[in-house]
Amino acid sequence: MAFKPANSIQDLQYFGEFGGVNPSISDSSTYTFLSAKTMFDTFEGNADGCYLYSRHSSPSNLYLGEALAAMEGTETANVMASGMGAITSVLLQLCEGGSHIVSSRTIYGGTYAFLKNFISRFHISTSFVDITNLDMVEAAITPHTKVIYCESVSNPLLEVADIGGLSEIAKKHGLKLVVDNTFSPLSISPKPLGANIIIHSLTKFINGSSDTVGGVVCGTKDFINDLRNVNAGAAMLLGATMDSLRAASILKNLRTLHIRIQQHSKNALFLARKFEADGLKTVYPGLVSHPSHNLFKTMMNGSYGFGGMLTIDVGTLEKANALMELMQHKNLGYLAVSLGFYKTLFSAPGTSTSSEIPLEEQQAMGLSNGLIRFSIGLDADIERTYSIMRDCMLELGIIKSTMA
Ligand SMILES: *Cc1c(COP(=O)(O)O)cnc(C)c1O
Repeated sequence: MAFKPANSIQDLQYFGEFGGVNPSISDSSTYTFLSAKTMFDTFEGNADGCYLYSRHSSPSNLYLGEALAAMEGTETANVMASGMGAITSVLLQLCEGGSHIVSSRTIYGGTYAFLKNFISRFHISTSFVDITNLDMVEAAITPHTKVIYCESVSNPLLEVADIGGLSEIAKKHGLKLVVDNTFSPLSISPKPLGANIIIHSLTKFINGSSDTVGGVVCGTKDFINDLRNVNAGAAMLLGATMDSLRAASILKNLRTLHIRIQQHSKNALFLARKFEADGLKTVYPGLVSHPSHNLFKTMMNGSYGFGGMLTIDVGTLEKANALMELMQHKNLGYLAVSLGFYKTLFSAPGTSTSSEIPLEEQQAMGLSNGLIRFSIGLDADIERTYSIMRDCMLELGIIKSTMA
């Protein structure tokens, strides 16, 4: 039977202290113990269900973690202060000096910078590969490789990772497959496809209101316990802990994720088809012209569609900037980084979210100057949105009128 992630979230029951329909928010950094012995046992990791200090865990964070684990079909999860907090903790937990990582070359700019400039200082090296080429992925593996790292749908080029194929390679070589699923929550479920650890930036679609940063690591109980370990856990010791008040508010937003994703996907597919028909170079996994359209279809949870992200290439950075400014002026969305908001957000990745990547490398991976990344919003009337966007593009000469 197909995996039904939204059902898994909905089936969880939580009640507040006084029978409230939402769980009570835990507003404490520390917890009392009835006996000194229980405190000792808790620090030793032998007292399940006891809280010791909120950097380790808190009731509100566990509620949100449980819901996200249900969504991804993993045993458990640990919420973190940001997506980067999740990514850096996972990689530092899995690697040691001398380790090697095979990573997709088209990934979030911050992750790229961490791998290239930061974790390398600890003699952990990374090979960046074209993740859509499984032979190249396997060829990059060395005896020191610990991790294959990718995004299910990559930022910003929207390359689609063959998670099943990558998981076979990971299994064969005894590696962990770590998948950042930020661009495709609900649409793609990496765990049933064979991923070991799934990461999200909750900042984006999952929270959906652009009012906080947050992250999560979904995985086995053993791995999450390792992350939280008081003596050697990266989550515990690096301290990227989410605040309980935020965890409670993200959990409430998670309730509507299935409806929002359907609307983001519906609007994005509509615009992608129109843009492509207008002769714009358009990348969207829902278009038949996308090189991984069929692969995406084999991986997706039907009703959630192909997600809310699309890109167009308008040729030059000047045109891209002019179009984005005009669209913002017409209130079609905001010139802003990030994604998953109710309003459409647009940015030119080469000069913003991917600016960590050197220019030559941007060009090698197909990240061109005129690229605009859109996070399509929840617009109630997407036909109106399109017609105003089209007027903007005609005005700037980005598309030509087909009417004589
Ligand atoms: C935004 C983003 C991140 C980083 O998350 P933060 O919450 O900003 O730390 C990681 N991966 C992807 C794909 C992202 O879009």
